[in-house]
Amino acid sequence: MKARNFRYIRPASLHHAYRILAENDGDAMPLAGGQSLLAGLNMRLSAPKILVDIGELKELAEESHTDGIVRLGALTLHRELLGSQLVQKHVPLLARAASHIGHVAIRNRGTLGGSLAYADPAAELPACAVALGATLVLGSLNGERAVKAEDFFKGLFETDLRPGELIVAVEFPVVQAGTAIGFAELARRHGDFALAGLAAVATIERERIRDARLAYFGCVDRARLAPSVSAALEGVPTPLTNANVFESGIRKDLAPDDTPGMRAETKLHLATVLTHRVLNSLAVDAA
Ligand SMILES: Cc1cc2nc3c(=O)[nH]c(=O)nc-3n(C[C@H](O)[C@H](O)[C@H](O)COP(=O)(O)OP(=O)(O)OC[C@H]3O[C@@H](n4cnc5c(N)ncnc54)[C@H](O)[C@@H]3O)c2cc1C
Repeated sequence: MKARNFRYIRPASLHHAYRILAENDGDAMPLAGGQSLLAGLNMRLSAPKILVDIGELKELAEESHTDGIVRLGALTLHRELLGSQLVQKHVPLLARAASHIGHVAIRNRGTLGGSLAYADPAAELPACAVALGATLVLGSLNGERAVKAEDFFKGLFETDLRPGELIVAVEFPVVQAGTAIGFAELARRHGDFALAGLAAVATIERERIRDARLAYFGCVDRARLAPSVSAALEGVPTPLTNANVFESGIRKDLAPDDTPGMRAETKLHLATVLTHRVLNSLAVDAA
């Protein structure tokens, strides 16, 4: 299939982009790396009258590190997450996750903002943003507002973005000394979207887990924080000896439904396997 006809506009500034989006409410869509949007247009899953190409806007490509926060512009490429020294040093979970996103060609064009805005439940970066306690900076003609990642994802491909708004940047708290990260996913082939995945951040004190934040992806309709699992893990020794510690928490936090591709029990099983793998690798990361 081919996309319906559309106008293509490349705005000269962020303000210009905001204006086009506001003046064409519902008819205009931002285009970043195009890795999800263009496929969707060709399949006629959406048919905007105007594509607003934000891909060259410098205001969306800035990177900074101040006061314990790493701020990455929405246009940060998946490839840049892998290569950035700032990311490797201060938010290494992003670099770890980015290596699992699609293939080189996808990582060369796909963007952080595009991945979060698209909100695919099986995508890696939304789960990382949730696990890391990131804040999204959303902008429009009305100014900017900040939304916590765990509040941003509302459902299947559904977010808190309002008409006319863009993701401008994402702010990640810098990983502190003693903080361990963990990441794992299960996919049919490397580079496929995950069947299930887990991004985790925790403090390890005297070989015990503290303040764990676990975000599962691919299991339910969005990247999902798991508060019951985190609570059950408080003070638990790592490496783990007993899966019963978190199994009921996974069931409670995820509560998945059967879907055409997979039964709920299978999703819970995959999530349990991943939790074991990730938690047992936390100690290694913290060493
Ligand atoms: C073959 C293939 C395999 C892939 N595998 C994976 C994978 O394993 N894991 C994974 O996570 N992703 C995967 N992807 C998707 C890829 O990561 C995309 O890059 C990402 O989902 C969207 O980023 P983009 O910059 O290409 O956004 P676009 O495709 O340009 O846009 C996606 C959506 O986000 C909106 N948007 C974009 N930027 C903004 C912004 N700043 N503010 C507001 N709205 C915005 C657009 O209007 C559109 O609705 C795959 C894609 C392909 C084609």
